Amino acid sequence: MTDHLATVDASIPYGKRPLQVVVLSGPSGSGKSTIVNRLVVESPVKLIKMISATTRPIRTNETDGEDYYFLTNEEFQRKSEDGGFVECEEVHSSGFWYGTLRSELHRASDEGGWAFLEIDVKGALSVMEQYPDAITIFLKTPSEDVFENRLRTRGTESEEVIQRRLRTAREELNFADRYRYQVCNDDLDRAVEEIIEVLVSREAESNA
Ligand code: 5GP
Repeated sequence: MTDHLATVDASIPYGKRPLQVVVLSGPSGSGKSTIVNRLVVESPVKLIKMISATTRPIRTNETDGEDYYFLTNEEFQRKSEDGGFVECEEVHSSGFWYGTLRSELHRASDEGGWAFLEIDVKGALSVMEQYPDAITIFLKTPSEDVFENRLRTRGTESEEVIQRRLRTAREELNFADRYRYQVCNDDLDRAVEEIIEVLVSREAESNA
């Protein structure tokens, strides 16, 4: 689905410069969402978290339009056909689709920040092609045991989903070296700090 959509305006303006895109991937259970939320608050570089569209059902703790735009299959398909996605993928063989909305990138541009995408590996590879200057970060968990533990203590998924996510995580790890930066999430504070350092140095480079 993704590839045919790539009538890309990789040069959505950001002031006088192209929009800077930041992509973070890593297995769910790697503490990704905590890190994402902390980065948005703590990063001195203004990050605008992109709100993806998805066909997966809303969870009780989620809000439509804040966590995701929750769409029906038909709505998602229509948006895809209209070229509304920068990338979209069926994630974790779940049967559910997720996509980065082109309109969200425009929002980042309008708000004068960097577009911050938290997406799966397949989506990230597609974004890397379209935005070769994207800052791409792969978040690793210290070990598979720790990762499995985190998935279980979260308690939101069935055993079947947990097993599927473990499989996907193993597969995704094979792509870690396609990312510019790999950060191990053995210590949350250190991981956040490490990513902020990357962002700050990239901002300094782009201002030089
Ligand atoms: P969850 O259903 O737990 O919110 O998210 C499942 C996975 O979907 C996450 O690992 C996340 O990286 C991925 N995801 C979220 N939004 C997007 C998106 O717009 N595009 C792609 N390719 N993956 C996404």
